[in-house]
Parts: sequence; C-alpha cells; structure tokens
Amino acid sequence: MSNLRSHAVTIIPGDGVGPEVALATQRILDAAAARAGVAFDWEEAEAGASVFLKGDQTGVPQATRDSIDRTRVALKGPLETPVGFGEKSANVTLRKLFETYANVRPARELPGIPSRYKGEGVDMIVVRENIEDLYGGIEHLQAHDVAQALKIITRKGSEKVIRFAYEMALREGRKKVTIASKANILKFTEGMFKNIGEELAPEYAPIEANHLIIDNVAHQMVKDPAQFDVIVATNLHGDIISDLASGLIGGLGFASSANYGDGVAIFEAVHGSAPKYAGKNVINPTALVLSATMMLRHIGELDLADQVEDAVLTTLEEGKALPQDVVRQKGGDVEAAVSTTGFTEAVIENLGRKPTSVPAAASRPRPSAQNPHKRWPDGEARRAEVGPATVIGIDIFAETLMSPAEFGTKLAALAGPEFELRIVSARGTVVWPKMSPAFDHPGFFRSRFVARDKSKVVTDEALFALIARVTGVATWFHLEKLRSWNGEEGFTRAQGE
Ligand code: NAP
Repeated sequence: MSNLRSHAVTIIPGDGVGPEVALATQRILDAAAARAGVAFDWEEAEAGASVFLKGDQTGVPQATRDSIDRTRVALKGPLETPVGFGEKSANVTLRKLFETYANVRPARELPGIPSRYKGEGVDMIVVRENIEDLYGGIEHLQAHDVAQALKIITRKGSEKVIRFAYEMALREGRKKVTIASKANILKFTEGMFKNIGEELAPEYAPIEANHLIIDNVAHQMVKDPAQFDVIVATNLHGDIISDLASGLIGGLGFASSANYGDGVAIFEAVHGSAPKYAGKNVINPTALVLSATMMLRHIGELDLADQVEDAVLTTLEEGKALPQDVVRQKGGDVEAAVSTTGFTEAVIENLGRKPTSVPAAASRPRPSAQNPHKRWPDGEARRAEVGPATVIGIDIFAETLMSPAEFGTKLAALAGPEFELRIVSARGTVVWPKMSPAFDHPGFFRSRFVARDKSKVVTDEALFALIARVTGVATWFHLEKLRSWNGEEGFTRAQGE
C-alpha cells in the first residue's frame, strides 16, 4: 500500500525504561499506520541523563531543540533529573523552551484493570498549568536556615491554560470544568487564577463551571471521583492531583499526558524512568501508548488514534497478555505476565478490534478542532485598563535576633517624617505593635513602612534613605515595593494587620 500521509515526529526514547516503552509505542503506531496508509517519519533525539553526563547542563541538546522546532510534535520517554545542585530538570526545560503551557492528564477507568473505583465511571481530565507557579524554581536562602521559593502566577499564563481547559471541554463534549485553587489563603496568586476562571466561564456556556478549594478537590476525588469532568489548576496543585487521578484508575502504568503549547506539543507518560526495571523487558508501555493516542488526535489522525486506543483496551479487557504490574495488581502469579514485547505484540494483533465492556474510542465525542484559539490578553490594553501603579511604601525583610518589641520600637523611631512603621510581622503574622500569644522567633522579620501622607508620591530616593537607616539596625535581605492600582493595594495584609 502506498503511503498517503506522512507525519514527522521527534521521538526521545529517554532514560531507564524509556527506550523500551518508546520502542513499544513506535511499533504499535507504525503497525496501525501501515494498515491505514499513513507513515511516521521518526526523528530520534536525545535528552536527559545521557546529555547531562556529556556535560550539557540543560539536558536538552541543540539538535533535539532543532528537531522539535521542525516537527512541532514530540513523543518522549521519561528523563532522569540528577538530584542535587545545579542542573534543572530536562523535562521542565523542554516544557519551558517550547512554552507548552497546558499539561493534560486524562484518567479514565480501563477494562480489566483493578481499581478501588471500578464501575463508578471515573472519566476525568486534569489540566495543569505547566510553566508558572513554584516551577519557576526561583529559590533563595534568605537568612540563616530560612529558604524561600517564589510562586509566580500571571494573568496571561492563567488565562491561557484556563481558556485551554474550557475549549478542550467544548471540543471533547465535556460538561463541566472545575477550577481548583487555594484562593482562600493565597488571595493574589491563587485568587487571580480562580477569578479568571470565573470571569471566563460565561464565554464557554454551555460548559458548567464551578470552583473548589484544592484540598476539597483531593477529598472529593477520593470520595466520589466520578463527579469530576475537567479540572484546571495551577502547576503544583495540578501536579499533585493529576497523580492522585492516576491512582484512581490503576496507577502509573496507565497514566498518559500531553503538554500543549500554541505551536508545539509534547506527549509523554506520567511515570518516570523506573530504573529498577530498565532493560528487563517487563515494563508496562500502556501509559506512553495512550499518550501517543493523544498525539494522533492532535495531528488530526482521529481514526488511527481510535484504532490504537481500542486495541489497547481490547488487550486489557481480554486479559490474555498482561504486563507484570497488572498481573500483580490482580493478585496473579507474575510468572504468567507477558514481557513488554509480548504486550506490544498482543496490542498489534488486536488492531482493528474493539472492546466490548467499555465504549469504543470512536463512540466518544471527537475533538472538533486541534488548537485553542488565541485570544490572549493584549498587554498594552491591559496596562491601560488597570492604570499606573502608585508606590505607597515598602516591605523590608531583615535578619535579626532582637525581640519584636525592641525591633519595632527601633524601626518606628527611624521611619522619619515620610513614613510610618505600620507593622512588623514574622512569617506573615503581626508581632509589633501587637504580639501573637505564641511567638517562635524565626530569626528574621518583615517590617512594613507606608507613606504618612497618602497624597504624596513616594520616591525611590526616600525609599533608599529609609533602607539605609534600617541597615543601621539589622541586615536586610529582601525588599518589596508596596504598590496600589486605582486605590487597590497590590499586597496582602499580614495576619492581625
Ligand atoms: P518512576 O520511575 O515513575 O517509578 C516509580 C514506580 O512506579 C516504579 O518503581 C513502579 O512501581 C511504578 N511504575 C513506573 N512506571 C511504570 C510502568 N510503566 N508500568 C508499571 N509500573 C510503573 O518514579 P521514580 O522512581 O520516582 O523516578 C525515577 C526517575 O524518573 C527520576 O530520575 C525522576 O526524576 C524521573 N522522572 C521522570 C519523569 C518524566 O520524564 N516525565 C516523571 C517522573 C519521574 P513498582 O516498584 O511498584 O513496580
């Protein structure tokens, strides 16, 4: 049969069991493609441990970046991240390099796979913001034994992933999007995420939108997971609840994922390199194969995706050729398990068949468009809308072992005519002028100075002079300007302020 269509795909086998699951996936895709008159032009590329070992501190060499730039689609095995100082995760680097801002992890009950929620109809998709939040990895040791990580959330980043979630819900015939956040505690970061989710909801009717606090999402996911349809969350929360979701349907052997950007998409299993199984031909490749079905849908090969998915479901349903993790979960004898290769061959043999105990892939609503539309907020227009910032004071973080009373009194005395010391706080709780009953000295305080005369502009010169005066009392290590927009303070109040 002559090839009618050809797709260039970057394949990154990765580390540990990566090459085994990647090869299994390529074999299944090639076999399905051959039946349909489609061909894959696989561009093999390197990333991860082998690259770090060669001295490339990024873990993602230029040749790999160039390949993804060309193909716009990558299928990757797990990458090992060296533990310690220096190197950043090659996975995170790849996601950031190609601005794949939406990480999508479906969790659907699978036939023949034991789980605690069997028969309840678990079928959810977790959409995780993939670039921002604590994954900026911006950390400092601020004072002796005091560490800080910056949680960065932007309106643009949040809007992109939330719109993606709504649009994906519409495309895939989903009914509900749950915005999961910690807005009750983190008013600015998580609060912004929640507000944007609620603001955009009317644009995506008839999708029903609701908001749940992330801890309650975890609780509800364990109690009644079938209530969820699409969940969208910031990066760290999404990371955690998407792993929880994998646990609901049989574990990491089945957890697939995709990283979507506006131009590039990277498909990978959720699991890591499982080093203890590397080279043993025993690992379950299903997670990467199911990730590849997401890739096929992304490149418009909907029939091929359905065929591969149905072959996997049929193989699991029949239970004649199961990898060892599944046999173990079923309480069977692992001697009866098939190898990775054996499972791959069983799936290939089942191409063209459909499962009978669960709906076949094609019976689910098909994605109607491949890319979300790009209506990201225009930075200039947004700045005009919110107006200029007014500086109204400064937070100065300084190391000290003085008591709050002594520190507060000294700082209040040097505030000068322009500023007043509004509060001193320790880890977010006011300790001066009022003291919390149980105070455990952290070795540093935040002192908040605000302009006495609200009508006057606070100049940098006045701030520098104030900082110089504080330096005479304690070692400052972090400064944050206090600003307001249209009279609204752009900072949170301390507990008790
Ligand atoms: P892991 O590689 O996911 O393995 C943890 C355990 O999960 C395995 O020992 C195994 O459990 C089970 N498992 C994983 N994949 C499986 C599969 N395909 N089929 C059946 N069971 C599977 O996690 P890790 O040991 O924490 O991480 C190892 C390395 O992978 C680290 O360097 C980490 O940084 C990296 N990693 C990479 C990615 C990525 O590239 N996206 C993701 C996560 C971790 P049993 O022992 O119970 O059999």
